[in-house]
Amino acid sequence: MITFLDDHFSQLNDFLLEKSFSKIFILTDENVHEYCLPVLLGNLDTDIAFEILEIEPGEEMKNVQTANQLWEILTEMQADRQALVINLGGGVITDMGGFVASTYKRGIRFINIPTTLLSMCDASIGGKTGIDLMHYKNMVGTFSFPEQIFVYPKFLETLPFKEVRSGFAEMLKHGLIADKIHWNELTQLPKPDSESVIPHIQTSMDIKQEVVNKDFQEKNIRKTLNFGHTIGHAVESLCLEQGNPVLHGEAVAAGMICETHLSYLEGLISEEESGIIIDALKKYYPYLDISDFSDDAVFALLFNDKKNTDRKINFSLLTSIGSCNFDYQCSEKMIRKALKFYREIN
Ligand code: NAD
Ligand code: ZN
Repeated sequence: MITFLDDHFSQLNDFLLEKSFSKIFILTDENVHEYCLPVLLGNLDTDIAFEILEIEPGEEMKNVQTANQLWEILTEMQADRQALVINLGGGVITDMGGFVASTYKRGIRFINIPTTLLSMCDASIGGKTGIDLMHYKNMVGTFSFPEQIFVYPKFLETLPFKEVRSGFAEMLKHGLIADKIHWNELTQLPKPDSESVIPHIQTSMDIKQEVVNKDFQEKNIRKTLNFGHTIGHAVESLCLEQGNPVLHGEAVAAGMICETHLSYLEGLISEEESGIIIDALKKYYPYLDISDFSDDAVFALLFNDKKNTDRKINFSLLTSIGSCNFDYQCSEKMIRKALKFYREIN
């Protein structure tokens, strides 16, 4: 369940007091500690006791070493099955905290309080938790739902613009795959800064929640949420591997450009509509220089993608703005064309 918090966090206090957890752990990172934790603690009922678990910020922390440290701390602090983990942070914290909570003692309860746009509109919803392994993203994880998601959009006021723009890519994706009106509203914004995106957060969250509700196990329609992510994840991994990390949403924006063009190459969407989408994405996102990546390096990652079986690469592709279909198996030739297209649009 998604709840938008008032300025006193009263819904959160009611929830915590009502459930009487044996212990409450707040997982956060250094930046969120500085910018958001004081707001949360300033509003928390004085009767509520808690422990703070803090990790360094960044995707590099989303690994089994950090998970192990957190499992050990929970053990040392004698967290039992009635304990609660509050994940206060961006997608790294909600993915990591959800994973640690859902595996510790075969699963304890957790709630998400997302503090980035990306975690509000995407990562905190849908029950996917996980960590990275080697340079592969989200290789180990669970499907586990938070007890609740509490959203306080004002947390975005301290988030750097680049991070807001990264989360905006997931909002655009929600419009593209499911809601043309949402897409139209978002693409009218001159700049995706925190102030202008806040009024659109709820619609975007509702779209994701609705898709997940229809297909929690990702057997069919949930796959449409992967639009832009097949190539996007490969780009994200390669940039990281080359010591030039880009934000998730920036990679997904590049992935959406490639996969929109792929939708056109497959005859699913008109040239005109694909042009409108690609122009909008180009307006918001800087071009990522993927000229150093060979097609083979991209394919090596695509074949390792969890969504693929055999040597077939599955894509979710657009059939128009606001509509997406899944399980398209594109040929290597088409994918190479889409990568070439991206390399040449700069
Ligand atoms: P993040 O958690 O690393 O946060 C981005 C940066 O913003 C960090 O430096 C963080 O410390 C800082 N920050 C967070 N809130 C802040 C605030 N209010 N003010 C100032 N600074 C703040 O990254 P993210 O973009 O939120 O999430 C990316 C992660 O989410 C990736 O690991 C990705 O795989 C995952 N993800 C998961 C799902 C899912 O369904 N589980 C979906 C999409 C993305
Ligand atoms: Zn994403």
